[in-house]
Amino acid sequence: MAFGKRKFSQLFLDIVGKPLEQSVQLCEHSNFRIGGSADYFFKATLALDLVKTIRLARENSLPYYIIGKGYNLLFDDMGFRGLIIKNCAIGIKRIGKGKIEVFSGTSLCDLLQFCMDKGLGGLEFLAGIPGTVGGAVFGNAGAFGKDIGKFLKEAVLLNEKGEEIKVKREYFEFGYRQSLLKKKHEVLLKVVFGLREEEGERIKAKIEENLEKRKKKHPPLDVACAGSYFKNPVLPKGKKVPAAYLLDQVGAKNLEIGGARVYAAHANFIINQEGASARDVLRLASELKRRVKEKFDVELEEEVIFLPAESSMP
Ligand SMILES: Cc1cc2nc3c(=O)[nH]c(=O)nc-3n(C[C@H](O)[C@H](O)[C@H](O)COP(=O)(O)OP(=O)(O)OC[C@H]3O[C@@H](n4cnc5c(N)ncnc54)[C@H](O)[C@@H]3O)c2cc1C
Repeated sequence: MAFGKRKFSQLFLDIVGKPLEQSVQLCEHSNFRIGGSADYFFKATLALDLVKTIRLARENSLPYYIIGKGYNLLFDDMGFRGLIIKNCAIGIKRIGKGKIEVFSGTSLCDLLQFCMDKGLGGLEFLAGIPGTVGGAVFGNAGAFGKDIGKFLKEAVLLNEKGEEIKVKREYFEFGYRQSLLKKKHEVLLKVVFGLREEEGERIKAKIEENLEKRKKKHPPLDVACAGSYFKNPVLPKGKKVPAAYLLDQVGAKNLEIGGARVYAAHANFIINQEGASARDVLRLASELKRRVKEKFDVELEEEVIFLPAESSMP
């Protein structure tokens, strides 16, 4: 960065009109409850603030990273050398038959409530997946063979040059837990979903059914973790195997390192049992990968995103 902390905070106040927080503990912003201190932290409650903040960080060569609710993230024990921007820009409105426009900081839970109230069906598979629309589109979140990308019609992004661009679904190149945002790391500001008109009571019943199914294998939300740790690998003949099955076969459920351990009811969840560090989690994940590689010759790929202290969005 071209100049000192005090000057940047003042510049931020002048341009964005809101104060920047300093030395914020990232463990408070991740469901893993792990992570050291970020140099700077800002909660953007408006999409415009998000845009101004990112532009300012870029102009001043300050490393930055956008987060939603931190349900898919592992922060570094050393925190983050730069600015963490928490996206709290929320809002949903109906813009036509079966179409809604949603700000990316809206929670999936609020989105589903809106769909239930307005009688708009399709997204019920998201029930029980914690986080924001932004995080969900980034990783093409899904369950029960469906994913969010399928319902996205168009979106507004902030591209790498700091320009707002309107894109269609095809732009995202959605795949299994995959979107172009993972490669380019552009920022999702707003999205339009195309849904079908359906009776609210039917939507509610499907949501409740999905929540019931999830209860049997997923840890409750008060367990400190970031969801499935690894993606389900696709074998050379194209068959997808549950990572949990492979992990079970290598004795994952008995493993723990420091405060991190594998969840007893599901081998693909690493949990922060007691005071785990990011290092404990990474060492445990690496041991799990080693065992699966050795026994099955399968390379597991992380679904959870680790953010090193010295990194930045490109
Ligand atoms: C108990 C539990 C169960 C889960 N079950 C599922 C499941 O069934 N299916 C599933 O897919 N996931 C699941 N997850 C993972 C998680 O809920 C999803 O990945 C969710 O979409 C994360 O949203 P978030 O707002 O918390 O994102 P964060 O964790 O805050 O961020 C995740 C990534 O998204 C990026 N990002 C966030 N917002 C934006 C934006 N506006 N623009 C660009 N990039 C952005 C961040 O930079 C980061 O790289 C589960 C997690 C938990 C803890």
